[in-house]
Amino acid sequence: MSNDYEGCRLFIAPDGRSGFALQAKGNLAGFVWDFFVSHQENERKAYDLLSLAIEQGGNKLATPDHPLLTNFFERFGFQAVSMLKGNEGNAVTMILLDDAYQKLKPRIHEFLQQMDTRNEVVTSNALKDACASCGQAPQTPLAANGGDGYRADGYQCSRCGFIRIHGCLTLGPPKPA
Ligand SMILES: [Zn+2]
Repeated sequence: MSNDYEGCRLFIAPDGRSGFALQAKGNLAGFVWDFFVSHQENERKAYDLLSLAIEQGGNKLATPDHPLLTNFFERFGFQAVSMLKGNEGNAVTMILLDDAYQKLKPRIHEFLQQMDTRNEVVTSNALKDACASCGQAPQTPLAANGGDGYRADGYQCSRCGFIRIHGCLTLGPPKPA
């Protein structure tokens, strides 16, 4: 582990495949860095981990400017506040509006419940490309390339709006000058 995560609390899944760093100290406290969800995880993982990050005090993040990512975070009540132009794409800084999060939480739980119910009945491979929440198929994959090795992919369901997402979902802490 490098000094990059100075002042951070690390949340890593027991299998080491997914997790994030939460800035606990300093003027960037509340930032969720290097939020990563392995492709081997199910559709819930990104939602479960981001919920955990928020419950632990996470309320800011920076992510590549791509609708798959920004829409996903908006589902939780994050709002874009600034844009940083980069050579390989722009990065958006987002902050959590707590009121919005409290209002959106029931909707998120509804999606997750639909997903759990569906996963119990889905056994055929053909159906696995379908929306994890409502079963609409097929879904159009989207990829968000943030440059510098950052990449996320998934889909946004055209029927119910559910977002499945994997990969690198937020950027890392700024490099010391
Ligand atoms: Zn759907």
